[in-house]
Amino acid sequence: MTFLGMPAPGPAAADGPAGRSLDLTLLYRGPLASCDYDCPYCPFAKRRDTPEQLRADRAALERFTGWVADRAGTGDSVSVLFTPWGEGLVRSWYRRAMVGLSRLPHVRRVAIQTNLSCRTDWLAEADLATLALWVTYHPGQVDHDRFLAKCRELDALGARYSIGVVGQPEHLAAARRLRAELSPAVYLWINAAEGYTYTDAEAADWSALDPHFGFSRHAHPSAGRPCRTGESVLSVDGHGTVRRCHFVSEELGNLYDGTYRPRLSARPCPLPVCDCHIGYVHLETLPLYDVFAGGVLERIPHTW
Ligand code: SF4
Ligand code: SF4
Repeated sequence: MTFLGMPAPGPAAADGPAGRSLDLTLLYRGPLASCDYDCPYCPFAKRRDTPEQLRADRAALERFTGWVADRAGTGDSVSVLFTPWGEGLVRSWYRRAMVGLSRLPHVRRVAIQTNLSCRTDWLAEADLATLALWVTYHPGQVDHDRFLAKCRELDALGARYSIGVVGQPEHLAAARRLRAELSPAVYLWINAAEGYTYTDAEAADWSALDPHFGFSRHAHPSAGRPCRTGESVLSVDGHGTVRRCHFVSEELGNLYDGTYRPRLSARPCPLPVCDCHIGYVHLETLPLYDVFAGGVLERIPHTW
């Protein structure tokens, strides 16, 4: 099938011996590694990709979306979270991918992590029952009123989104102000700042904004514990290399030649701890599939 005017990829590779239908969640991260923001806590701040790197990222993304489109009629259903190193939505091909995937009946959810610096009018083309945004607010990079105006645009469009803030002490006042002015219907999450140890009083301040901050405050022991990654949740890079998650380097095969498929199985986590929400949300020993039921990828709690 053609995908919103993009060239059709080749025929979908035959599935492996495990030829059953699957309900897959794919965390896609292509080669893009540039961002229009300059966050002091980020290695991708104000990085530029060369034109060749951008072309490669676009080609890789279009190959991936073509593969997802070709799952139509196979019995598979797919949910996608784009987790670019940098900012994707300032690139037309990510916006096009979001719109195109949202319209496919076998795609249950398509979400992306974004700083929301992009314009929002393109969302009107999407199926907003399927599309969702994982937005991070970076105080210091964007003016409060300007950011809030973008949130209001999302509200007017009826877009589904969560907003988050990195829980740096210097962000607390900005996070409080945003929480006070955001629509009460929008969940504000707080990520524990990397390497920072919170006193109980500080944790209480952040928990007053995000009742689920406790899940982020400490890394989760994960060694030997069951995790849905590697079975129903997979990480995919720009070459189609499949790993169980973004944090475990062992390869399970390739998406495009189907070699990943017979290797899908339940397997325990091989790492000592898991400290990133996009990882530990899939740990079976945590209740987060219940807490975020219906909104696991975009980080929206079931009852909010
Ligand atoms: S917006 Fe995100 S990717 Fe961009 S510099 Fe900030 S943390 Fe990094
Ligand atoms: S617990 Fe985290 S690190 Fe371990 S397999 Fe799952 S997502 Fe990966």
